Amino acid sequence: MCCPWISLSNSEIALSDFESRGSSVAALIRELRRGVFPGCVLICGGTGMGKSALALLLAQALLCEEPSYAGRPCGHCKGCRRVRAGTHPDLLTPTETKKKSIGVDEIRGILSALQTHALESDRRAVLLDDADRLTPQAQNSLLKNLEEHPPATHFILTTAYETRILSTIRSRVVTVRLAPMPASALTAWLQAQGLNESAAAECARLSDGSPGLALTLNADESDRALRTLAYDTVFSLVSEEDIPEAEYRLKDLKDDFDRFLSILERELRLCMRGSPDPRFSARFAEASPARLAVLLGHVISAEQQRASNVNYQAVLNVLLQSILEEIKKWPLS
Ligand SMILES: [Zn+2]
Repeated sequence: MCCPWISLSNSEIALSDFESRGSSVAALIRELRRGVFPGCVLICGGTGMGKSALALLLAQALLCEEPSYAGRPCGHCKGCRRVRAGTHPDLLTPTETKKKSIGVDEIRGILSALQTHALESDRRAVLLDDADRLTPQAQNSLLKNLEEHPPATHFILTTAYETRILSTIRSRVVTVRLAPMPASALTAWLQAQGLNESAAAECARLSDGSPGLALTLNADESDRALRTLAYDTVFSLVSEEDIPEAEYRLKDLKDDFDRFLSILERELRLCMRGSPDPRFSARFAEASPARLAVLLGHVISAEQQRASNVNYQAVLNVLLQSILEEIKKWPLS
């Protein structure tokens, strides 16, 4: 069975980077280092949280040739290299990893390959990334193998949509949930990926502990430009005279306006949670969550108007006026 490389990310992440990602994940890694691994694991986590990377590292650890499990995956043995290259014969995955739906024939092909012995390792790993893509029939075809899995065979499933996995599957697997990466650990990891200190801190702050999202944001110049525009216009409003200037600066935003609104929403939510961007004035940074929530309400109202196809310039004008009116009520700092 062909084992194509599962495209994850160009970044380097180690098994130890996952030890801070929740008690269930830490326990799984701890047991693995003792040479103990469940027959079937379901890794749950949102997009960009690293579940595919963790799944691949676990498969690599299982097929690594380093004698001590405590040192696995070593990263340089033939087993590790072949897992990373997607050519290890004892790592079984669907042939087309990007397919939106994985049917029963694909799963039966993998299961029939399990009738033979492992080829190079003393264990085998079956990796089903985004297992919610499996049709109900395909999921059902797995049940018997999950219950009485072939010897020395380990199923590793991932999903961002746990409820799309049949309850009959979920009751047969060990479920681990990836918690957000702590901000300090994520910042350090981003710096290790080559980001400078301020970019790493900024992307860690914006990404809610998601390493994949942090890297995406770092590479997203338009997100950065829209953020700057938000701080130079909407979040700089002080008096009526600022509105024409803000409208002028935002006049070419038409195609990006909806995204601009979502960035305003994100920045306000982060500020409400006590993690404001340094560009917020003291009035914003010191504003109570209740005051910020009123601003957030105006942004959400603008998003709803846009969803009803209201002209963006009309929405923008109302938004600027509403936000200014609210800010004027705040005490001067
Ligand atoms: Zn190795």
